[in-house]
Amino acid sequence: MISAQSPEVINFLDLTPEEFHKAIQELGQSKFRATQILDWVYDKNIYDFQEMLNLSKDLRTLLKQRFRLFLPKVIESFKSADGSVKFLLELWDNSRIEMILMPSEKSATLCISSQVGCSRKCKFCATGKLGLTRNLLTSEIIGQILLARKYIKNRKLTNVVFMGMGEPLDNYENVVQAVRIMTHEKAINLSSRKITISTSGVIPKIKLLANEDIKVKLAVSLNAVIDSKRNEIMPINKIFPLADLKKTLLDFRHSTAYKVTYEYVMIKKFNIGNDDVRALLKFLGDQSCKLNLIAWNPVEGLDYEAPNEKEIEEFKAKLAQLQCPIIQRDSRGNDINGACGQLAGKNIERKEGDHGKY
Ligand code: SAH
Ligand code: SF4
Repeated sequence: MISAQSPEVINFLDLTPEEFHKAIQELGQSKFRATQILDWVYDKNIYDFQEMLNLSKDLRTLLKQRFRLFLPKVIESFKSADGSVKFLLELWDNSRIEMILMPSEKSATLCISSQVGCSRKCKFCATGKLGLTRNLLTSEIIGQILLARKYIKNRKLTNVVFMGMGEPLDNYENVVQAVRIMTHEKAINLSSRKITISTSGVIPKIKLLANEDIKVKLAVSLNAVIDSKRNEIMPINKIFPLADLKKTLLDFRHSTAYKVTYEYVMIKKFNIGNDDVRALLKFLGDQSCKLNLIAWNPVEGLDYEAPNEKEIEEFKAKLAQLQCPIIQRDSRGNDINGACGQLAGKNIERKEGDHGKY
């Protein structure tokens, strides 16, 4: 007998609908059955084969033996005054990750994690402090989306951003597979225009992504445009410096329809001075792109400071001559440890829930 831990057991949420069809046919079942099961999961939000009542009892038992199907477990959720909700999630090996749901009236944006921790060690980032434990499986990425859909009920999940814990391009295969499932009409059915991968600048993987058949949007965490400064806060810059990054991104822009979004975390007395403004004008001046500014969100144990309103306005005014649109993202969920990695690093007691049946 095959137990839930046997290697033959496949994670259902790792598979694209085509791969699932194939797996079902290998079990001697019809395509029609595969379609029914996909409907239960992705349309009816049922994650227990026993509840798929239009399947025979034997088939339900067989499915249970061959496939794992469960979502991450919610350990705790924190609702912010601005309506965003941060979830602390636990995975099968007790690893913890975070996701943030930002609902608006009819729609919702979900910020998901791609790794447990991160190996890139950016100095201002709570996840960077944790180091890397492991990559997330595709099923764990998809699981976050299904959990969010369950939570928002009638509202539609419209946008997904890979801006939670981890560097998505360091988990390239699983992230790309997850995007295939997210955009598949028989699965999550999100438009690829509504998916953004945020990266610290992993050049070889940006090049690979430019040539994929899936075309998602790309955000790049710039945070400093003077190499010596970027080296200081983002060690990845020592491997993939700014000039090479810019060239890669210009090529990316040509091979996809989308403008690159640059993210810039404003840190007091560090990256909002006149030298930074000059460098930004030069770096962005000849690009068709977008710029997102966000004030640094305090992280326990880190010595940086966020600029005040006046400093932010002055910085923005000096950048006004840029052609590209500048958007200031508010640090949503400031009161709930908004910056990712801040919860998973804390010792929050485990609560028993109903997602632990694996
Ligand atoms: N690893 C990827 C995606 C996750 S980080 C990347 O670096 O792009 C998502 C965003 O959060 C990045 O733009 C990062 O610069 C920003 N960020 C990290 N820590 C932050 C903090 N304490 N305050 C504000 N933004 C932060
Ligand atoms: Fe990793 Fe992104 Fe944090 Fe840098 S900012 S440590 S790449 S999660």
